[in-house]
Amino acid sequence: MIIFKTAAPLITYIRQQKQALKKIGFVPTMGALHAGHLSLIQHSLQQAPITVCSIFVNPTQFTNADDFEHYPVTIERDIEQLLKVDCTVLFMPGIPEIYPEDYKRKLYELGSIETTLEGYYRPGHFQGVCQVMDRLLHLIDPDLLFMGQKDYQQCMVVKQLLRSIHKENSIQFIMEPTLREKDGLAMSSRNLRLSEEERKTAPAIYQQLSHIKQYICSLPFLQLEEEARNNLEHKGFAVDYVQIRDVETLTPAVSTSQKLVALVAATLGKIRLIDNLLLN
Ligand code: AMP
Repeated sequence: MIIFKTAAPLITYIRQQKQALKKIGFVPTMGALHAGHLSLIQHSLQQAPITVCSIFVNPTQFTNADDFEHYPVTIERDIEQLLKVDCTVLFMPGIPEIYPEDYKRKLYELGSIETTLEGYYRPGHFQGVCQVMDRLLHLIDPDLLFMGQKDYQQCMVVKQLLRSIHKENSIQFIMEPTLREKDGLAMSSRNLRLSEEERKTAPAIYQQLSHIKQYICSLPFLQLEEEARNNLEHKGFAVDYVQIRDVETLTPAVSTSQKLVALVAATLGKIRLIDNLLLN
């Protein structure tokens, strides 16, 4: 595995690979890698001879200083795991590589998808995601981009970003399913910050999502959302939302003839967890 910490040699390397007609798969991450991240890398390796994994904890997408300061950093372990799966390239830039002094903040036109759900509770979050993605896509120039369904709304936002920067035809976007622990909890770097007790409670989110999926055709949407919220609150979660939405637009569900997704964001102790399930 080749490790690049700066952009210039990475760009030269990518150019050489492209001249040799090698496809580039890209998996952006913020590190503290777990099996979910590694599954994205393995899928990329199956489809492209060159897979670039980036590790960059992007400050502009954090809306909570405590979350940014305490975001887990496990770089040596990350490198070991990437070596084990034979990842081709690791790009781990410092902040000045991504946001140099002359970096001009762009404002991305994302429509209503930016301000609903995560966008409502974390204003500016998706602009931050688009800033870092735009920079990384510019530097890495991938043919394939792999992202996880775990961050469903982020996937929809990045698809919208690709359209708005006219890369929807040159970059194939691939959303990979969420990897879960045995008890259903979606794997997440933030799970490392849960206490033992909180870790036992956390799978309740998946249980509620599964309950919604089971009854989506037989009970009213509002009732399913309310019941799930109440059950999570009863277990000690502070719930931001439990919502059943259209899979493409993320507007509120109207009928089961639409393709639907249920999404949850809830905080346990200090840790905010998100998860979702495709329903039909
Ligand atoms: P992060 O490091 O949290 O920014 O995540 C990097 C990528 O890994 C994103 O595309 C996430 O959606 C994806 N990812 C995170 N957790 C999982 C998971 N449990 N299963 C599959 N993909 C995941």
